[in-house]
Amino acid sequence: MKNSEKPTPNKTVHTKDNKNIVSPLADAASELKDFFIDSLKDIYWAENALVSALPKMASNATSPALTVAILEHLSVTENQVVRLQKVFELLGEKAEGKKCEAMAGLLKEGDSILQETVPGAVRDAGIIAASQKIEHYEIATYGTLCAFAKVLGENDAAKLLTQTLSEEKEADCLLNDIALNAVNMVAAE
Ligand code: FE
Ligand code: FE
Ligand code: FE
Ligand code: ZN
Repeated sequence: MKNSEKPTPNKTVHTKDNKNIVSPLADAASELKDFFIDSLKDIYWAENALVSALPKMASNATSPALTVAILEHLSVTENQVVRLQKVFELLGEKAEGKKCEAMAGLLKEGDSILQETVPGAVRDAGIIAASQKIEHYEIATYGTLCAFAKVLGENDAAKLLTQTLSEEKEADCLLNDIALNAVNMVAAE
């Protein structure tokens, strides 16, 4: 590369622009513990939203393996809601949800995938795609929550959150297997 072609570093990138600094809300978290609890409320909302949304996903699946996997994850998810209630209890906090914009968006995308696919192998592939985005969001969330719980010395909460993290990883692996074994083969016919 000639010297003249080298990208010139953008000076503004490294300059702190005060206009971009977000002012915290009145109830903004000032300690990690507060942010931890806010994050628990977020995933509590998300898990409850999944309990409502998963039956529709299962109804729209054609593959028996996929239907069973979603319905099994529904009962796992119901238990995750109860587990989160235990986490709130351990922390001496009331179990309450706060809208998770990410999960709301993922579920909205899932709905449009249903509309955009004909029932059968192609819709199944869409359901798996949407479900894996959801599982990956949950894996990221519980990974962070486990780390926060450990750093804060909340070891009992960390144990419960680790159990859920494993379940989300398991669900993701199962979806991978279903996709590889059945759906992708048929969808490609
Ligand atoms: Fe979950
Ligand atoms: Fe969220
Ligand atoms: Fe998208
Ligand atoms: Zn899940």
